[in-house]
Amino acid sequence: MSKVKVIVAGPRGRMGNEAVKLVHRTEGFELAAVIDRKHNGESLSAIEGFQGIEAPVFSDINECFSSIKADVLIDLTTPEVGMFHTETALNHGIRPVVGTTGFTKEDLAKLDSLTKEKGIGCIIAPNFAIGAILMMKFSQMAAKYFPDVEIIEMHHDQKLDAPSGTASKTADMIAAVRETKQQGHPNEKETIQGARGANVDGMHIHSVRLPGLVAHQQVLFGSDGELLTVRHDSFNRASFMSGVKLAVDTVMKLDVLVYGLENIIE
Ligand code: NAP
Repeated sequence: MSKVKVIVAGPRGRMGNEAVKLVHRTEGFELAAVIDRKHNGESLSAIEGFQGIEAPVFSDINECFSSIKADVLIDLTTPEVGMFHTETALNHGIRPVVGTTGFTKEDLAKLDSLTKEKGIGCIIAPNFAIGAILMMKFSQMAAKYFPDVEIIEMHHDQKLDAPSGTASKTADMIAAVRETKQQGHPNEKETIQGARGANVDGMHIHSVRLPGLVAHQQVLFGSDGELLTVRHDSFNRASFMSGVKLAVDTVMKLDVLVYGLENIIE
């Protein structure tokens, strides 16, 4: 069976670095190229941290896709660049696996119709950690019985978007099974703006940013005399890689856009 040829965008980033190593060590995958804005024309092995891993480096994504035959693009960059990379990949018939977070609902709708038009698979996963997917599913189950919910997401202080993609996705999954409910006292007033966090369908999301953290989330469900907490912690970026592998394998069999690994994990 031929190997899945993969291009990784953002290889020097914390996630991209792990993804390059995952592709390199996985038997059925081949690292076809990387997209990096600072090292055009070099070999990946010449870049610090990638000794022994050979792959051409391109800064221009169109040049990369025209020169290299590939099946999948893994994007781990920033929202604006990630959106451009994902559209470009679809236009070249390359299946995107996107871990980059911060896409808007409009971005997702645009990519959904482009994916349909091209008839190839695309996976956008705000969280690749299998434990985090289970946290979201368990939270959705709990929300049927506990409609009062607060989400506290905690990440490292270099994260650009807030709330996290995982927190937004958790809120969306809960909103799908919970009747809209404005939580807290009807007359509550913020004496400092933002004290109650972001409001999604009446539930609140709080974003914590601190050095030392990686990716953590608690979903708190309160009811008369009881509190249920569903919590997940990613302690390092390796925790995301089994989900990246699953997504690359799965996107090869899809012809639609899938948003969230919970839709491919039974
Ligand atoms: P990071 O360490 O800051 O890496 C970002 C990478 O993107 C760097 O290699 C950076 O290159 C590159 N980049 C930035 N702007 C670019 C541009 N204009 N053109 C080309 N490349 C550009 O971030 P990270 O922690 O790896 O996270 C990357 C993304 O994954 C973020 O959106 C984050 O929220 C998301 N994430 C997802 C998951 C998940 O499970 N789905 C988990 C963790 C993080 P330079 O060094 O040149 O800036």
